[in-house]
Amino acid sequence: MNELHRLLKRQLKKSGVLHSDCPNLDSFLEKVNEAYLSFDHDINHIEGVLEKSSEELYVANQKLKSNVKEISGQLNKVASNIKEVIFEINLDGNWSYLNPSWEIISGLKIDACIGKPYQDFIKDSNGQAVNLLFNSKNKEVESVNESLECLMPNETIKWMDFTIKAVRNAKGDLEGFIGSMRDITHLKKTEQALINAKDKALKANRAKDEFLSTMSHEIRTPLNAVIGMSHLLLLENPLDSQIENLNALKYSSEHLLGLVNDILDFNKIASESIDLEETDFNLKYAIHALNSIFTARAKDKNIRFQLKKDSDLPEMVMGDSMRLTQILTNLIGNAIKFTEQGKVTLDIELGSETEEYVVIDFSVLDTGIGIAEDKIDKVFESFAQAGSEINREYGGTGLGLAISKKLLQIMGSDLTLESKLGKGSTFSFSIYMKKSSAEVTNQVNLATNQVKEVNKDLNGTRILVAEDNKINIMVISKFLDKWNVDYDIAENGIIAVDKAMHKNYDLILMDLQMPEMNGFDASKTIRDSSDPLNKVIPIYALSASTGIDIKEKLSEFGLNGLLCKPFDPEQLYITISNIVQGTCEVKSLQA
Ligand code: ADP
Repeated sequence: MNELHRLLKRQLKKSGVLHSDCPNLDSFLEKVNEAYLSFDHDINHIEGVLEKSSEELYVANQKLKSNVKEISGQLNKVASNIKEVIFEINLDGNWSYLNPSWEIISGLKIDACIGKPYQDFIKDSNGQAVNLLFNSKNKEVESVNESLECLMPNETIKWMDFTIKAVRNAKGDLEGFIGSMRDITHLKKTEQALINAKDKALKANRAKDEFLSTMSHEIRTPLNAVIGMSHLLLLENPLDSQIENLNALKYSSEHLLGLVNDILDFNKIASESIDLEETDFNLKYAIHALNSIFTARAKDKNIRFQLKKDSDLPEMVMGDSMRLTQILTNLIGNAIKFTEQGKVTLDIELGSETEEYVVIDFSVLDTGIGIAEDKIDKVFESFAQAGSEINREYGGTGLGLAISKKLLQIMGSDLTLESKLGKGSTFSFSIYMKKSSAEVTNQVNLATNQVKEVNKDLNGTRILVAEDNKINIMVISKFLDKWNVDYDIAENGIIAVDKAMHKNYDLILMDLQMPEMNGFDASKTIRDSSDPLNKVIPIYALSASTGIDIKEKLSEFGLNGLLCKPFDPEQLYITISNIVQGTCEVKSLQA
């Protein structure tokens, strides 16, 4: 039998059994001995494995330690080198960490601050401690993103941007706060400079608008006289030798007026102060009016004006009839101007239709001089013409197409051009319009629609004209005399109110800028008077002002509409007769 294992020997000794006493136990003891030996072997093996593992663990631990050191070294490097201040605040509100940037921003040593309340150092521009961590209910905030003007410990004022977050443990208990602060003084200064620059630009723009509006008023007032007088002189049997000069005078003053209107319109579009109207209007009637104007104009040039229109076009639609007419007038006017032979066609087709909307395709085609391919885009630019010879030969400002294109863009459309030099041009656009459920009316915005039907003779019509400008008084008086109107002149608002109280008129034409009492106040006073007739009498502003806010003010002060000066006498006659008869609600009349 092999030597017994020491533990087995000990067990046998403890139990008092001697090996020699029981030879028949041999085989059993041998088995037990073998078990002990195998156990020993296993233990040795496990010990070996354990030793190896602990060696490996040691190495891993060392590596981890060095990694942690490396990472914290890197973090420290980052924290020491970034411009932002990084900080930690403990639950007592004291700094527990500050990176070196703090020393640069505050001028204080970090050691002198750690452990002290952050509020000792973060003050508003008045030197009051700033609370960043608690809300008004004294509950700690979860996060802060705030820019503050701070009085820094080194007595400088700086704009600081704070980002702070509450730090919670796994159970959700608050452990403190971590955050950063950044000096944004430079950014704030730039922002302020930008705001100031924007303010300045806005003010300059407003001044420009006011200047243009005042200048246009100043230009329109004498123009009113020139246009009016040239009309009158032409009507008063001039000598043959004078007719040419008078026509040149009339043409030049009307051209000058067109220029003033274009520049004003262009300015309005450029400063985005154009409001499109969406009112019911009679499309067929507007087209009919254009047809009658341009048929006559084409005839004067010995060319033909042709209107082609879809028979399915709706009669009443919703939109800005004045602007649509302005665009078409410009395009057809150009087509006639630049065509010496052949014809100009206005083609209006129903593009598509749903229950609520229609898309209408407009094209103005001519057989005129055409535009060279390389000038096609240029002609839409402001003050641009297809060539310098164009201006010499045809005049013009180069604003009409730029205005039309911008207006169409505001309407969500575009103006396109196809042209061949020497062959002719086609300008096209499509407009999306709401169908109107309004009754078919002959309401027409007389902006450019010179409706030739005169509904009522003005003989004996009683009109009060409130006007302070002597020349304007002379011009309008001459026309009113000619039309046998029974009129009175009031030279300021107070006189106008007084006259309206003592006499019944069929219409009041009210200048807006007058001494003593302006036209708005005078209209309101008349409306507010006890006489029931004064509540309903038509009061129309007759003004050379085109201020952007005028339209809104009109109804506010009880005026029915605006007739612009200088006026085309023929249009004024038709408009007055329609107003007096009440058949035509005129919203604005531009000469
Ligand atoms: P204006 O007619 O006052 O010069 P517009 O902006 O209306 O200004 O037109 C710009 C230019 O485009 C014109 O000067 C002309 O050269 C060109 N143009 C416009 N319409 C036509 C046309 N129907 N045929 C030929 N050229 C045209």
